[in-house]
Amino acid sequence: MSIDPVRTSFFIDGGWREPSNASTFPVISPLTEEEIGSVPAAGTADVDAAVDAARTAFRRSGWRDLEPSERAKHLRRFADELEARAEDRATTVTAENGMPIALARFAEGAAPVQLLRYYADLVESTPVEEQRTSQPLPGTTLVRREPIGVVAAIAPWNFPAVLSMFKIAPALAAGCTVVLKPSPETSLDAYILAEAAIAAELPAGVLNVVNGGSDIGQYLVAHPHVDKVAFTGSTAAGREIGRVCGELIRPVTLELGGKSAALVLDDADIEQTVSGLATASLLNTGQTCYMSTRILVPGNNYDTWLDAISAMSSALPIGDPMDESIAIGPLASRRHRDRVLSLIDRGRSEGGRVTTGGGRPADIDRGFFVEPTVFAGVDNSATIAREEVFGPVLTVLRYDDLDEAIALANDSSYGLGGTVWTSDQERGVDVARRIETGSFGVNYFNLDWGSPFGGVKSSGIGRELGPEGLAAYQNLKSIFLPA
Ligand code: NAD
Repeated sequence: MSIDPVRTSFFIDGGWREPSNASTFPVISPLTEEEIGSVPAAGTADVDAAVDAARTAFRRSGWRDLEPSERAKHLRRFADELEARAEDRATTVTAENGMPIALARFAEGAAPVQLLRYYADLVESTPVEEQRTSQPLPGTTLVRREPIGVVAAIAPWNFPAVLSMFKIAPALAAGCTVVLKPSPETSLDAYILAEAAIAAELPAGVLNVVNGGSDIGQYLVAHPHVDKVAFTGSTAAGREIGRVCGELIRPVTLELGGKSAALVLDDADIEQTVSGLATASLLNTGQTCYMSTRILVPGNNYDTWLDAISAMSSALPIGDPMDESIAIGPLASRRHRDRVLSLIDRGRSEGGRVTTGGGRPADIDRGFFVEPTVFAGVDNSATIAREEVFGPVLTVLRYDDLDEAIALANDSSYGLGGTVWTSDQERGVDVARRIETGSFGVNYFNLDWGSPFGGVKSSGIGRELGPEGLAAYQNLKSIFLPA
């Protein structure tokens, strides 16, 4: 990490603003457990200033009235400045949350830049107004897409840069202005975002960043001058935010937790499947919302699959996430590590058999590490099969026929991701059609900036990415005109 790790101000109204109070958050290295930096913690006055700046930029400074091609130019310049800082952003995120660096270079360095460019192109090619005639009615209707207004964007710690950009890029492209509140664990990397915005001369107030925990998040969500809330995080917090937005009749997008299934069909190639599962089930040390962590395998071959999945998990290199060969880094925080360990204990106490892992690695004496862990011998009613662990913990479940596998996959309060593994792609797509989820992969899983992403059931409301992600920041207005 080559950036200044001690920050003392907020990015508000295009520049650096002194905090209204003296409280700070430490930035703790999950690798060394030591403090490596600090950021100021916002008070309500700082949030007020950020929302005021965003409101002024929206209403009076003309961001919303710029031609889409003008906004696109700003977004591209912002992308160029962010690209110049991509390596700093990636190493900072790895220092903050322990993300393996090879992943951070793509997800936290390159992907936010790609998203800004994608939405710059999209907004230029999406008409703002469209003329409709509805026979047999007389007259025509002008349908307009107008920016919603000030957006409160609240991000989690697992992929802080890219998940913030899922919101910022389409919101700015649509003509909205943004107040971003990152997670306390990962506030430092957002300073690089702010530095890029300054260097790109993004108009003042269009993007603002305040740090804080859930109290400041709550204040921001309910702020009278916020027009839309975009949230990624836990289902518990999403439920609370949804309740507040419901009372306020405030548009909200909720991207929440998951407990997705990998359906391993009887014709799946064992080597390819198990190597694919290393990513589809354990990316970012399992701290990824769409992980396929319930692995459903044919009952008549259960032990073969269990052995292969256990061998794959135990072979994943674990250690310093700055080392490019590492697949499993430390978990993001002590609190989160303890939660994951307590869910492993719960799995054991409910009769689960641990085939590999099951605790902290014996040969690493510091850092918030948990070994990749595989559970067998439980059914889909076990806590370990129902609750999101958000760590490197897999549960291997058996099924007898395809209908049972699909019923088990759908027997979850969540519906975010999921995968099927088969040598017959068409069969895989047929399975995909039957799963209650927002996204699904056949023999792999990869988000696509041009296609919607989000969940069903307790995994959320609304979609990010693609044209649908832009529409989430637009109000529709119909203007009726006589014939
Ligand atoms: P979290 O819900 O604890 O916190 C997320 C963010 O919300 C943080 O910035 C936090 O300060 C803030 N916050 C918490 N409570 C709030 C409230 N009541 N009002 C306003 N803001 C509040 O989640 P986390 O532990 O940071 O992230 C992990 C969770 O995020 C997991 O459940 C994971 O599945 C989910 N997640 C979902 C997606 C998705 O796209 N669906 C992506 C990544 C992570």
